Amino acid sequence: MIQQKNLEAAIDRWRKVLGAARVLTQPSTIKRYCRNTAGAERRVSAVLQPESLTEIEALVRVAGEYKLPLYPISTGHNWGYGSASPVTDDAVIVDLSRLSGIDDSEIELGLITVEPGVTQGILRDFLDQHGHPFLVPVHGGGPNCSLVGNALERGYGIPASPDDTTAGARLCRHGRPGLPPTRDRTADHADQPVRTLL
Ligand SMILES: Cc1cc2nc3c(=O)[nH]c(=O)nc-3n(C[C@H](O)[C@H](O)[C@H](O)COP(=O)(O)OP(=O)(O)OC[C@H]3O[C@@H](n4cnc5c(N)ncnc54)[C@H](O)[C@@H]3O)c2cc1C
Repeated sequence: MIQQKNLEAAIDRWRKVLGAARVLTQPSTIKRYCRNTAGAERRVSAVLQPESLTEIEALVRVAGEYKLPLYPISTGHNWGYGSASPVTDDAVIVDLSRLSGIDDSEIELGLITVEPGVTQGILRDFLDQHGHPFLVPVHGGGPNCSLVGNALERGYGIPASPDDTTAGARLCRHGRPGLPPTRDRTADHADQPVRTLL
């Protein structure tokens, strides 16, 4: 059970870090984070919407100081497995969907680095806009689901290779003259960890 006075003190501090508009406490505003397709009901104390790594570090320090449980979500679209709901009552949700950076500096190696807010749809648009000849190995959760969230939840999609069970973890190339087939490329990088900016 969290201490109400601790929560109020932490909210004051978080407002200084994030600004009042990105510290949500009104029941009507945080209601959408409590929707749960599995039917469970959770009390949520507050929702924090950081936009940078520096803000995340600061808000985690405050939570530690006041002993408040945090629950991170990437986009909170974990349909059928809890949606955005924390696993315990009274947690503070850290909504990472505003962090949507993509680093394509290693694209020639078939690697890309994404922040938690990058969804299947955002990555598809990014690849198209930059003319990168890659497929996104999508899953059935929809274009608004985060790649990082799905990978951390051990999601699976249309596999690029028989042992690739993480939809968002890898990219695979289109069949293009002069490039190895998809399966060979992903096998080359089968031991690569999921890489994120966080
Ligand atoms: C019709 C339908 C089809 C679906 N098909 C598939 C499918 O084919 N394959 C599949 O895998 N799933 C599928 N799903 C399930 C689900 O929609 C996806 O797994 C979805 O991608 C997860 O939501 P998210 O990406 O928004 O992750 P989130 O809801 O943001 O997070 C998922 C989990 O990871 C944790 N997490 C997220 N980000 C972080 C972080 N940065 N740090 C630490 N922990 C974090 C969260 O706490 C949460 O427990 C389907 C659902 C439906 C309704």
